[in-house]
Amino acid sequence: MTNIPPIDTKSAIIPHNAPMTYERMIEYINIFAERYKCFHVTYLGQSMLGKNIPLITLGKGKKTALYIGAHHGMEWITTALLLKFANEYCELLEANGHIGHTSVSYLNASRSICIIPMLNPDGVNYQLEGISGDNPLRERLIKMNGGSEDFSSWQANARGVDLNHNYDAGFADYIRSEEAKKLAGGAPSKWCGNLPESEPESGLLANYVRFNEDIGLFIAFHSQGEEIYYGDCFDPPIENLRAGRVLARMSGYKLTKTEGTATSGGFTDWVVKELRKPAFTVECGKGKNPLPIDSLFEIYFKLRRMLFEAPMIV
Ligand SMILES: [Zn+2]
Repeated sequence: MTNIPPIDTKSAIIPHNAPMTYERMIEYINIFAERYKCFHVTYLGQSMLGKNIPLITLGKGKKTALYIGAHHGMEWITTALLLKFANEYCELLEANGHIGHTSVSYLNASRSICIIPMLNPDGVNYQLEGISGDNPLRERLIKMNGGSEDFSSWQANARGVDLNHNYDAGFADYIRSEEAKKLAGGAPSKWCGNLPESEPESGLLANYVRFNEDIGLFIAFHSQGEEIYYGDCFDPPIENLRAGRVLARMSGYKLTKTEGTATSGGFTDWVVKELRKPAFTVECGKGKNPLPIDSLFEIYFKLRRMLFEAPMIV
C-alpha cells in the first residue's frame, strides 16, 4: 500500500488517516501490550490463510462482555474503533479517570471486556490490498468476484464464505433459499458455506463462546446504519430487549427489528438462539461501506459511552 503514514510509536494514537490492515492492527496491539499493564493479548486461533486472530482482555472481573469487530472485509473501521477504545480504557485506568459517572478503576476491578478486533483478517486484507499473486485460491477467487481483480467490495473470508451467515441460526432455511443457491461455492458476500461453522474464524469464535460461561453480553460491531439489532427472529428473552434499549439510549442508535435475510446464519442470532444471552449487532456509522477512516472520530464519539458502560448492565 502507498501513502500510509508510519505509526507514531510515541503516542500510538489510532490514526484517522489510514485504513486498518491486519498488519497495522498487530503493530498497535504490540505497542499497547508493551505499554499498558492492563492490556493482555492472546490468540483465538488462525484464519484460513494462517493469520493469528488476536483476543484482547481488559479488566479483572468475572462478569465479561465480548466485543467483536470486522466479521466483514469492508468493515475494518470497527477494528480501529475497538483499538481506540482499548487505548483510551488503558489511559483512563492509569490516570484513575472516569467516563460519565463510571470510574474506570471500578469497571476494571468488577468486569472483564474481551475484544476480538478483527475476526476476518484475510477478508479485510483482500478488501484493502486485493489478492496477491501467490494466493493459492487466486483463480477461484477472481471467478467468485465476477471475473474482476477489484476486491474493494469483498466482505467474505479467504475462500468466499460470509462469516456472518455461517452460524447455526436460520442456516437450514437460508441455504435452501434462491438467494443462497445463486451464491453456492463462494461469493464476495452472503454465501453461507455448506455447513454452519465450516470456517476456521466462525468455528473458533463459536467454540470460544460456547465454553466461556462468564460472558454475559455480546456485541458484534459492523458498519453501517447507526442501528442495533437484537436477534428478534429467535424470540429473545425480555432481558435482551431491555439491555438493547439501554444500549440504544447510550449510543443514540436505533434499536431495530431484522428484515429479510440480513441476519440468516448471523452471530447475534446464533447467540440468542443457542445461549439465550443478550447479544447485539451494532451497525456503526452512516454512509457507504467501506466507511472512510476519517469518520472514526465521529463514530467513536457516539459509541464511547456505550463501549465503556455496556459491561455494567450484565
Ligand atoms: Zn457486517
